[in-house]
Amino acid sequence: MIKTVFVSLILICCTFTVSPGQVSFDRLSDNVFHINADDDKTSVKSLLIVKNNNGVLVDAMYGEYGKSIKSYLDKNDIVLEYIINTHYHGDHTQGNSNFDNTTIIAHQNTLSNIENKAQYGPEEPFDKEYWPNLLITDSLLLSFEGIEINIFHLGKGHTNGDAIVHIPEFNLVDLGDIILAPEALPYASDPKNLISVLDAISEKINEQTIIVTGHGALANKSDLHALVKIMKDTIDYVQGGKDITSFPAEWNSWNSQFIDMPTWLGMLTKYYKK
Ligand SMILES: [Zn+2]
Repeated sequence: MIKTVFVSLILICCTFTVSPGQVSFDRLSDNVFHINADDDKTSVKSLLIVKNNNGVLVDAMYGEYGKSIKSYLDKNDIVLEYIINTHYHGDHTQGNSNFDNTTIIAHQNTLSNIENKAQYGPEEPFDKEYWPNLLITDSLLLSFEGIEINIFHLGKGHTNGDAIVHIPEFNLVDLGDIILAPEALPYASDPKNLISVLDAISEKINEQTIIVTGHGALANKSDLHALVKIMKDTIDYVQGGKDITSFPAEWNSWNSQFIDMPTWLGMLTKYYKK
């Protein structure tokens, strides 16, 4: 049984320092928790599904945050059966090293990226013992305590090994960093393909679907469509040979802590300017 629930703090007017590795748990339903790293720098998000004192964790954050998640699970007698890594970056994988004897699911390219030390983050690569050990190529249907968890890959989006986690019973999809936050431009390994990935996800969800983003608030299908639209508009703009230093002022609302509009347009220019 889950005895303690930490509710995310909404900071309206002030900022304060939190301990390194502190996480908060926001209960979305009887079986689902949204986990927030209380850190202004990354604000990485994870998802925890709990049933009959067993758990599935989608992304384990950096090591110190993973440690806090582990102590929460221990306190509440929850045994973690599976971790799903949405991609290889250290802010989503390095926390794996807190969990012994856990099946770690990821796309095969995620394992290759870890093996090739394509690490992202301040920590050293973590021990091999905690690398993904159940690999997917296209999809895997996981049955967890009677809950169907569909894990699939739709091609290059944020990385070449993105695993998307869809749980129809909860009408929820975890996109990792395919969407960083609502109204945030993406880090795309292939922007046009990322649009195709988002279109394919859109086909699988409805207006009420909860979208878990990698580093921001929960999102919905409208946020997904808004991202597709700004990506298409900006790609058209760059391909049309327009001056990227004088883009439409309304696009400034897409500046975020992750990537601003000038940087995004500069990146698109490298990809697509004829
Ligand atoms: Zn991330």
